[in-house]
Amino acid sequence: MSFDVATLRSYVRDVPDFPKTGIVFKDIAPLLASPDAFGAVLDAMAAHFSGPRGFDAIVGIESRGFIFGAALAARTRSSFIPVRKPGKLPGAKDRVEYALEYGTDALEMQRDVLTPGQRVLVVDDVIATGGTVGAAIKLIRRQGGVVVGAAFAIELSFLEGRKRLPADTECFSLITY
Ligand code: AMP
Repeated sequence: MSFDVATLRSYVRDVPDFPKTGIVFKDIAPLLASPDAFGAVLDAMAAHFSGPRGFDAIVGIESRGFIFGAALAARTRSSFIPVRKPGKLPGAKDRVEYALEYGTDALEMQRDVLTPGQRVLVVDDVIATGGTVGAAIKLIRRQGGVVVGAAFAIELSFLEGRKRLPADTECFSLITY
């Protein structure tokens, strides 16, 4: 890619005290506004999870995980499956509760959207404490999906979220803080 990580970093804006005092929100709006920067993130994720780490479905986490996940699914011609906040998905679904950097929440996934043994990549914009992606992985495994890895544009490495992922889950991030 023509973008190195230092250049990509300049497309992420720090917003202090949003949405709560003490949180430095990583605003990806400038990155999304640049087709080259956004494309470079997608290229890097696709390259990292090609070959033996290949996948046939992407689970995107509401809501900014939809942006990266759906674009990556279209680019790699894989299925896209949304994991959503409670009350948004119709029909039979599974639910997992988790702790967030700011508060607690739950995620839901429709039942029978995965076939057992299907190779799945989880995608979100940011990994902070790892609670959100951990909940998504539980939902995928409940349906017999094989989680090949998790991909993030941004990792807040000081929160050590990747340590909360299963040992066999390949964790990839581009911009680390
Ligand atoms: P966590 O469960 O702690 O890993 O938090 C990850 C989720 O919260 C992701 O869906 C992010 O979109 C969001 N998030 C957590 N911390 C931040 C942050 N500092 N800036 C932007 N988004 C964040």
